[in-house]
Amino acid sequence: MSRRSDPVTPEVRILVLQRDQHEMARVGLAVLTPTCVAPLIDPDAGPCAGRSTLDHLKEEPRMGVRATSVPEHLVSLCQGHTEDGMKAGHIWNTSHRPELREYLVRVNHRCTRCHALVIGPRCGFCGLPATSNEATEKGRRSSGH
Ligand SMILES: [Zn+2]
Ligand SMILES: [Zn+2]
Repeated sequence: MSRRSDPVTPEVRILVLQRDQHEMARVGLAVLTPTCVAPLIDPDAGPCAGRSTLDHLKEEPRMGVRATSVPEHLVSLCQGHTEDGMKAGHIWNTSHRPELREYLVRVNHRCTRCHALVIGPRCGFCGLPATSNEATEKGRRSSGH
Protein backbone atom coordinates (compact mmCIF):
# COMPACT_ATOMS: atom_id res chain seq x y z
CA MET A 1 0.00 0.00 0.00
CA SER A 2 2.45 2.63 -1.17
CA ARG A 3 0.11 5.30 -2.34
CA ARG A 4 2.10 8.40 -3.11
CA SER A 5 0.08 11.45 -2.22
CA ASP A 6 0.61 14.68 -4.09
CA PRO A 7 -0.02 17.73 -1.96
CA VAL A 8 -3.03 19.73 -3.07
CA THR A 9 -2.63 23.44 -2.53
CA PRO A 10 -5.48 25.28 -0.76
CA GLU A 11 -6.04 27.28 -3.96
CA VAL A 12 -6.52 24.14 -6.05
CA ARG A 13 -8.77 22.61 -3.40
CA ILE A 14 -11.04 25.67 -3.47
CA LEU A 15 -11.10 25.67 -7.29
CA VAL A 16 -12.12 22.02 -7.44
CA LEU A 17 -14.86 22.47 -4.84
CA GLN A 18 -16.16 25.61 -6.61
CA ARG A 19 -16.11 23.86 -9.98
CA ASP A 20 -18.07 20.87 -8.67
CA GLN A 21 -20.52 23.04 -6.68
CA HIS A 22 -21.12 25.08 -9.81
CA GLU A 23 -21.78 21.89 -11.76
CA MET A 24 -24.18 20.60 -9.09
CA ALA A 25 -26.10 23.89 -9.18
CA ARG A 26 -26.12 23.95 -13.00
CA VAL A 27 -27.87 20.59 -13.28
CA GLY A 28 -30.36 21.58 -10.58
CA LEU A 29 -29.01 19.49 -7.73
CA ALA A 30 -29.22 21.15 -4.36
CA VAL A 31 -25.69 22.07 -3.38
CA LEU A 32 -25.34 19.64 -0.56
CA THR A 33 -22.84 19.50 2.20
CA PRO A 34 -20.55 17.71 1.54
CA THR A 35 -19.68 18.59 -2.04
CA CYS A 36 -19.74 15.35 -4.01
CA VAL A 37 -20.01 14.59 -7.72
CA ALA A 38 -21.32 11.04 -7.27
CA PRO A 39 -25.01 12.07 -7.64
CA LEU A 40 -24.06 13.99 -10.83
CA ILE A 41 -22.68 10.87 -12.46
CA ASP A 42 -24.67 8.01 -11.01
CA PRO A 43 -28.42 8.22 -10.26
CA ASP A 44 -27.99 5.17 -8.04
CA ALA A 45 -25.08 6.60 -6.08
CA GLY A 46 -27.15 6.83 -2.94
CA PRO A 47 -26.97 9.50 -0.26
CA CYS A 48 -23.76 11.35 0.53
CA ALA A 49 -22.17 11.10 3.95
CA GLY A 50 -19.33 12.56 5.94
CA ARG A 51 -16.92 15.27 4.85
CA SER A 52 -15.87 16.40 1.38
CA THR A 53 -12.63 14.90 0.22
CA LEU A 54 -10.68 15.35 -3.00
CA ASP A 55 -10.01 12.22 -4.99
CA HIS A 56 -7.05 11.91 -7.37
CA LEU A 57 -7.67 10.42 -10.78
CA LYS A 58 -4.37 9.51 -12.36
CA GLU A 59 -3.97 9.16 -16.07
CA GLU A 60 -1.28 9.57 -18.68
CA PRO A 61 0.13 13.07 -18.78
CA ARG A 62 -1.33 15.11 -21.59
CA MET A 63 -1.88 18.72 -22.56
CA GLY A 64 1.46 19.48 -20.93
CA VAL A 65 -0.01 18.91 -17.49
CA ARG A 66 2.54 16.89 -15.59
CA ALA A 67 1.50 17.32 -11.99
CA THR A 68 -1.44 15.30 -10.77
CA SER A 69 -2.56 17.85 -8.18
CA VAL A 70 -4.39 20.00 -10.72
CA PRO A 71 -8.16 20.40 -11.15
CA GLU A 72 -8.01 18.17 -14.25
CA HIS A 73 -7.14 15.24 -11.97
CA LEU A 74 -9.22 16.03 -8.91
CA VAL A 75 -12.88 15.48 -8.05
CA SER A 76 -14.88 16.30 -4.95
CA LEU A 77 -16.30 13.22 -3.30
CA CYS A 78 -17.86 12.70 0.09
CA GLN A 79 -16.52 10.09 2.48
CA GLY A 80 -19.55 7.93 1.74
CA HIS A 81 -18.51 7.62 -1.90
CA THR A 82 -14.83 6.88 -1.22
CA GLU A 83 -13.03 4.15 0.63
CA ASP A 84 -14.33 5.37 3.97
CA GLY A 85 -17.85 4.47 2.88
CA MET A 86 -17.00 0.96 1.72
CA LYS A 87 -19.94 -1.40 2.09
CA ALA A 88 -19.56 -5.14 1.51
CA GLY A 89 -16.46 -4.65 -0.60
CA HIS A 90 -18.06 -2.04 -2.83
CA ILE A 91 -16.32 1.30 -3.09
CA TRP A 92 -18.21 3.78 -5.25
CA ASN A 93 -15.29 5.81 -6.57
CA THR A 94 -13.10 2.88 -7.61
CA SER A 95 -16.01 1.30 -9.50
CA HIS A 96 -16.76 4.54 -11.37
CA ARG A 97 -13.33 5.57 -12.66
CA PRO A 98 -14.39 5.87 -16.34
CA GLU A 99 -17.42 8.00 -15.43
CA LEU A 100 -15.30 10.21 -13.19
CA ARG A 101 -12.74 10.72 -15.99
CA GLU A 102 -15.51 11.66 -18.42
CA TYR A 103 -16.85 14.11 -15.88
CA LEU A 104 -13.44 15.75 -15.50
CA VAL A 105 -13.03 16.14 -19.26
CA ARG A 106 -16.50 17.66 -19.46
CA VAL A 107 -16.20 20.24 -16.67
CA ASN A 108 -12.61 21.43 -16.94
CA HIS A 109 -12.25 24.39 -19.25
CA ARG A 110 -9.12 26.48 -19.36
CA CYS A 111 -9.24 30.13 -20.31
CA THR A 112 -7.65 30.51 -23.73
CA ARG A 113 -6.11 33.82 -22.69
CA CYS A 114 -4.73 33.29 -19.17
CA HIS A 115 -5.09 29.50 -18.80
CA ALA A 116 -7.00 29.79 -15.51
CA LEU A 117 -9.71 27.24 -14.78
CA VAL A 118 -12.99 28.78 -15.95
CA ILE A 119 -15.94 28.26 -13.59
CA GLY A 120 -19.18 29.72 -14.91
CA PRO A 121 -19.83 31.90 -17.94
CA ARG A 122 -16.54 33.80 -17.91
CA CYS A 123 -12.99 33.59 -16.66
CA GLY A 124 -12.79 34.77 -13.06
CA PHE A 125 -9.29 36.10 -13.58
CA CYS A 126 -9.30 38.03 -16.87
CA GLY A 127 -13.03 38.17 -17.65
CA LEU A 128 -12.84 36.41 -21.01
CA PRO A 129 -16.22 34.77 -21.76
CA ALA A 130 -16.02 30.98 -21.59
CA THR A 131 -17.49 30.67 -25.08
CA SER A 132 -14.70 32.77 -26.54
CA ASN A 133 -11.62 31.24 -28.07
CA GLU A 134 -8.47 32.31 -29.89
CA ALA A 135 -10.25 32.34 -33.28
CA THR A 136 -12.87 34.88 -32.21
CA GLU A 137 -10.23 36.89 -30.39
CA LYS A 138 -8.24 37.16 -33.60
CA GLY A 139 -11.39 37.97 -35.59
CA ARG A 140 -12.22 40.78 -33.22
CA ARG A 141 -8.71 42.21 -33.47
CA SER A 142 -8.60 42.17 -37.29
CA SER A 143 -12.12 43.62 -37.66
CA GLY A 144 -11.19 46.43 -35.31
CA HIS A 145 -8.43 47.52 -37.69
ZN1 LIG B 1 -21.24 11.52 -2.07
ZN1 LIG C 1 -8.67 34.23 -18.30
